[in-house]
Amino acid sequence: MLEKLSSVLKKVTDKVANAIFLDKNMVDSIVKDLQRALIEADVNVKLVVELTGKIKKAALDERVKGLEKKEHIIKLLHDELVKLLGESREIKLGKKNVFLLVGLYGQGKTTTIGKLAAYYAKRGHKVCAVGLDVHRPAAAEQLEQVCKKINVKAFVDAKEKNPGKIWKKYEEEIKDYDLVIVDSAGRDALSGDLIKEIKDVSKMVKPTETFLVIAADIGQTAKKQAETFKEAVQISGVIITRMDSTAKAGGALTACAEVKAPVVFIGTGEKPADLELFDPEGFLSRLLGMGDLKSLMEKIQSVVGEKEIEEQQARLKEGKFTLKDMEMQFESLGQLGSMDKLMSFIPGLGKAKIPEGMMEQQQSKIKNWKAAIKSMTKEEVENPDILEKESGRIQRVAKGSGASTSDIRALIKQYKMLKEMIHSQGDLSEGKMDHAAMMKFAKKFAKKIRM
Ligand code: GDP
Ligand code: MG
Repeated sequence: MLEKLSSVLKKVTDKVANAIFLDKNMVDSIVKDLQRALIEADVNVKLVVELTGKIKKAALDERVKGLEKKEHIIKLLHDELVKLLGESREIKLGKKNVFLLVGLYGQGKTTTIGKLAAYYAKRGHKVCAVGLDVHRPAAAEQLEQVCKKINVKAFVDAKEKNPGKIWKKYEEEIKDYDLVIVDSAGRDALSGDLIKEIKDVSKMVKPTETFLVIAADIGQTAKKQAETFKEAVQISGVIITRMDSTAKAGGALTACAEVKAPVVFIGTGEKPADLELFDPEGFLSRLLGMGDLKSLMEKIQSVVGEKEIEEQQARLKEGKFTLKDMEMQFESLGQLGSMDKLMSFIPGLGKAKIPEGMMEQQQSKIKNWKAAIKSMTKEEVENPDILEKESGRIQRVAKGSGASTSDIRALIKQYKMLKEMIHSQGDLSEGKMDHAAMMKFAKKFAKKIRM
């Protein structure tokens, strides 16, 4: 279900979270990815342009910097996407409930009745269905079959062509049930004839909820459909079916939000269990994989000071990367407790696998490295090359810190590698390095880092 959109959204949020700094090129590429994915999911172009315009503006706003900016962008993206998906509407059942399902031919009304019946029966309700689709020849039979599968009673009369008479016939019997789900007839298009029929049925069955059933594959056309049904028969919610069978489900979802027809359930397959309550926040969290990201951001924020990050980013932007910066990475690393968190700061490295057992080894190494950096002069910290040029310096640092000379050489090697990484991030955002090259580099880096 919207897998493609989901993977792009995850990629975009990862990019924002992992970027050391967000320059114009990076922002442009993020915005382009977003636009393409949303349009492919059939979201209205105008809405897409509005949304990405806001993201771009926020990203390039020089007044907000560092972590605050990243969080701002991700929060903005999240909020705007929720807005696109519309308001949520909780369905509360009373003592006696009647659901009336309406919609055009073939949208999934009858199938959805089985799903709703299974959903509520599972939650302890006494559910039955009533078939008032007197137009489709096999409608009664289909409803019976659907209900039989889930052991729910279906009241149908295949011979009767007057919905009023069918309802009257079963009126006493259905009083035993606390949820009655009514199937109604569709048409190829919303005609005056259909509206009259639905209005009559509605007057008779007095629904507590009237759900419009729309198939996701009709895309943005859902807007017109939701709008006209809403005006004609006052629907209380929309159920979108066949979410599983199209990559364009974004069209139907966002179109309903546009006309303020809240989506209440989505159908995700043909089986009775393939029904989900729809809640925009939860749906989006799943698309974004937001839970993880949010907690990581919180963690990052709690270990590294805002001011330090800003300063570091300013230095990195000028291509400066010193042992001081590396020490700062170690600090956050020690507190985060794992190497892969450090890796996730660096674009492209987030997904590189770190061998097990390496972590502890890494921790003691880092302890020595931190001590070594503390024993260095300011000049050495800012320009570690001089350590290599004059080996006497390395011996001095080793004596002062208790680290071995090979520890210090390894530290310098690591430093150089990270510096190389950071420079290639510049290449990446300027489009000089493509994704494949980046992944190759990341793999190489992950291999090298095994000390
Ligand atoms: P109605 O004319 O509105 O009552 O529509 P039906 O309930 O007869 O459904 C029309 C077709 O859509 C049937 O072939 C169903 O199996 C199929 N269908 C309904 N809901 C879903 C769904 O969520 N996923 C998939 N893949 N097919 C569905
Ligand atoms: Mg039907």
